[in-house]
Formats: sequence, C-alpha cells, structure tokens
Amino acid sequence: MLPEAGSLWLLKLLRDIQLAQFYWPILEELNVTRPEHFDFVKPEDLDSIGMGRPAQRRLSEALKRLRSGPKSKNWVYKILGGLAPEHKEPTLPSQGPPHVPEPEGGLKCLIPEGAVCRRELLGSGCFGVVHRGLWTLPSGKSVPVAVKSLRVGPEGPVGAELGDFLREVSVMMNLEHPHVLRLHGLILGQPLQMVMELAPLGSLHARLTAPAPTPPLPVALLFLFLRQLAGAMAYLGARGLVHRDLATRNLLLASTSTIKVADFGLVRPLSGARGRYVMGGPRPIPYAWCAPESLRHGAFSSASDVWMFGVTLWEMFSGGEEPWAGVPPYLILQRLEDRARLPRPPLCSRTLYSLALRCWAPHPADRPSFTHVEGLLQEAWPTEGCCVRDVTEPGALRMEPGDPITVIEGSPDSTIWKGQNGRTFKVGSFPASAVTLADAGGLPATRPVHRGTPARGDQHPGSIDGDRKKANLWDVPPARGQRRNVPLERMKGGTECAWSHPPGVPGSTGSHQGRCGFSHPEPQGKASPGQVWWLMSVIPALWEA
Ligand code: AMP
Repeated sequence: MLPEAGSLWLLKLLRDIQLAQFYWPILEELNVTRPEHFDFVKPEDLDSIGMGRPAQRRLSEALKRLRSGPKSKNWVYKILGGLAPEHKEPTLPSQGPPHVPEPEGGLKCLIPEGAVCRRELLGSGCFGVVHRGLWTLPSGKSVPVAVKSLRVGPEGPVGAELGDFLREVSVMMNLEHPHVLRLHGLILGQPLQMVMELAPLGSLHARLTAPAPTPPLPVALLFLFLRQLAGAMAYLGARGLVHRDLATRNLLLASTSTIKVADFGLVRPLSGARGRYVMGGPRPIPYAWCAPESLRHGAFSSASDVWMFGVTLWEMFSGGEEPWAGVPPYLILQRLEDRARLPRPPLCSRTLYSLALRCWAPHPADRPSFTHVEGLLQEAWPTEGCCVRDVTEPGALRMEPGDPITVIEGSPDSTIWKGQNGRTFKVGSFPASAVTLADAGGLPATRPVHRGTPARGDQHPGSIDGDRKKANLWDVPPARGQRRNVPLERMKGGTECAWSHPPGVPGSTGSHQGRCGFSHPEPQGKASPGQVWWLMSVIPALWEA
C-alpha cells in the first residue's frame, strides 16, 4: 500500500529517525494524520503499537524540531489547543516507567478506532448520538464506556456543532471530579468520537419521569444529589468555567446514588473582572432554565449557573416536570423580570424552597455561591425518623411501626407533620407523635425540624401553602409518583399552578394563574429535546434586541 499524500510528512519524519516501520501503525491505529495529533498521543498509545521508550524519545525530539519550523495548525489543534483551560504538558515524556493505561488512573488519550466496539444507542443530543460501547485496553482489559459521535451532515460536520463537540472534549480533558462525567479519550476517526465513562442508569430526568412501577426517588436521595451537584459546580466554578446547560437531562446516574454532571458542549471559560461570559452571537440556549441576565444580555457567570441549579432543584422536586411549561418563551423573561418564580413543588420543604428563591435572586451578586449553597443544603437537610405506631387515619400518610420516615416539614408547635414513608415512597401528613427522630434518642418527634424562615413566596396568597392553610390538615398533595399512579384524593385543584414571588417583592398579591394561563400539566414523560430546543431557538432575537 502506498503512503497517503496528506501524511507524507509522517513518513519523512519517521524515516529520518529510522522508525519508518511505525508509519502504518501510527496512521491507522492511532489515527495520527497531522503533527498536532501527537498532542493527544500518550506514551501508552505508543507502547500499544510496540514502540519502545528510546524510540519514543527520538520521536519526541523529532516532533519538537518539526514544530520549531513554521506551524500549520488544523482545526482540531486550533480548537482543542486554544480552548483548553490549562496548559497541557507535552505528552511524550523523555523518561519514566511504562504506564499501563487504566481508565481510573487519569488516562485521557487518543484511542484507536478498533479498540472500541460500539453497541446499542443510548440517546442523542444536540450534536451527536451516544452509544454504549466496550473499550479494550492494550492490557486486554475491557471497560464499558459511552461513545458520543459527532453528527455529520452530507457536507461534513456542521461548524457550530463541530466547535461545541471539540470544546466539550477540550473542557472534559482537564476535569477530574467524582461528580463530573469523565472523558477517557478521543477517537480521531470519521466521525469524531468521544469515549466517556458510562453512566449505566441514564439521565436523572429519565429516572424522575419513569412511569410506574418505578417508584419515585426518595426525598433524602434528592438531597444527596443536590449536594453532589453543588460540589461539582463549585469545582467547575473554581476552574473558571460556566456550564450554561444545567438541567436534570444533563445529570447522569452512574449508580443509584451517584450523579455526574455531563454535557459540556455549552461550557465556556469565564473572563474579565466580572467573571462573565457574554455570548458573541446568536446561539440557542435552554431558555426556561436561564437567568434573566442570560436571556436579556446573553451574559453567563457562576451566578447564572446558580440560577440554573435552582431550576434543576425545582425539576428534581417536581418529578421532572418542565419549568414554565406552556408559557411562551418571550413571556418567561417578562415574568422573571416581574419577579414571578416557579412555585414550590409539594415535595420541597419551605427551607429548601427559600434556598431556591435565593438562587433566583434578580441580581447575580445577591445569589449564593455554590460553596454557600452546599452549606445552605446542609441546613435544609430533612430529618430522618422511624414510625412507632400504625397510622391508619383517613387521609393520613399510612405507616407501620419500623417504617423509615423522612420528615419534610415539621415544627414544634405543630402536631401534624409532613414526610415521606421510605417503605412506600408515599408523601403526606402524619401525627408527629407517630414518629421518633433518628437523632432524638428515640423520643417522639416534638422538636423543630427546619428552623429556616419560610420564604415570602411560600406565604403568598394563592400559593400551595396559602391555600392549604384553609384546607383540611390531611390535604397535602401527594408526591408526583402518587399523582401518576393512584387516584387523586381531595387534591386541591389549581393551587399548584400559582406563581410565587421571592422575598422583598412589593405587590406580591394573588395568583397569576388565570392571567398567564400557567398550569402544571399532568406528568407527560421526558421533556422532549424538541421542546427544549424550540425554546432555545427563540433567544437570539430577544437578547440582541
Ligand atoms: P448528550 O449529547 O450529552 O446530551 O447525550 C444524549 C443522551 O445520551 C443523554 O440524554 C443520555 O441519555 C445519553 N448519554 C450521554 N452520555 C452518556 C453516558 N456517559 N452514559 C450513559 N448515557 C449517556
């Protein structure tokens, strides 16, 4: 077989250092066709084609000489090199013991196409499809992975999608956090493919909206996920990055109790004294998750990620409902600037909702940092208890002795509390005397559970709680899973559709429900990407105006 014209430079380079026998393995197994591709070749890649360390050193020297001449950067190098947040050290060390590549050990490398076997489709995103795959390491060990392939149109990759894809690679290459999805490497083939850690349980959104008989997620687990998310976001912020697409659809379940932040296609580096990223042109963004300054001016910052965290929290406690469902995009911005906010979901305690409202402060500077959010979450953490007697009163949350109970709402001056039964996953009100708190030494539950001041939005006439004050004590709306699976019992029609307002809003009176036509739809499964993208595509006209 004749050498390809475009890679004659490689043949020449290898001949010059008496390594021409590696021409085909480097070209075909490592997919190196340009000098810049060597930036992503690790010693272990060269080990895998049988090149010894002395030969690797000769290659490294030859590459340095080649690069000291005039550069001809191609698009991969330009985008990956130009956008990586950190300076990458040369990847061909001149010494050191051979390293056996293992995905757990910090390996991010160029992966030969033949080393990954693609299996079934896991999902599709904005710029590609994701398949389950099996990656065979040079050691022979097989690792389950997810492979994201860049969608290629009839005339090759679309510019913006290619840019986002490569940006995602360049960002992920430098990230290492237990709750950030890990990139294993890149396949420089046709199409370009990212090899990532597999999250075998799929997206959190899919889990939240899974139909019966899948039980709803326990409230305590949702709190754990929030803490993991806040930690991952604090990590991204500390690295000067803004995610810009935080939503439950982009949180993947690595296990039943571990989420990972994924989808870094919209991530951008923060810059300037104000630590912001301002969009340079019209691009779609996830409208209903965005902070007002993002919608109005295309401005993103860690504070706008905090806003999105609040919306993600809302999704989690609403069973994956779509924020602002049924509200036209142009009205969402108007509503936000009028200080309307998403209502408190039934599973969400007042203290947690007040945290969400802080994330939705109109001015970015007034929102808590992610580190602060971690502390606020700790304060809002629900108390665990244990049922000590049968509760069978009509309308009450049914429980049996020994049932684990997560207390969502309770106060010392109330004899009726609200919680989730960890055995049945049902949510409702129950007599406080039926539960002992885990940290109260077996005493009945008579101490305050949450000390946080209820947010003004909670007290808003027409809000869930405003109406409930007038309602029967047992009239607590059941959890979403229950709404979906069992007949509604005395659920107060319409109260969930109210708008609520953050603290300090003048004229917070009455529900806007009728005026704006906002209503919570019945559970309708995963918010389709189409819906999200439709919303996203409207933004440029707004912020450019
Ligand atoms: P994305 O292009 O990142 O939005 O991914 C599209 C869909 O593919 C997601 O909604 C997930 O369902 C699935 N997916 C993406 N990455 C992974 C992964 N690492 N493990 C499992 N599923 C994934």
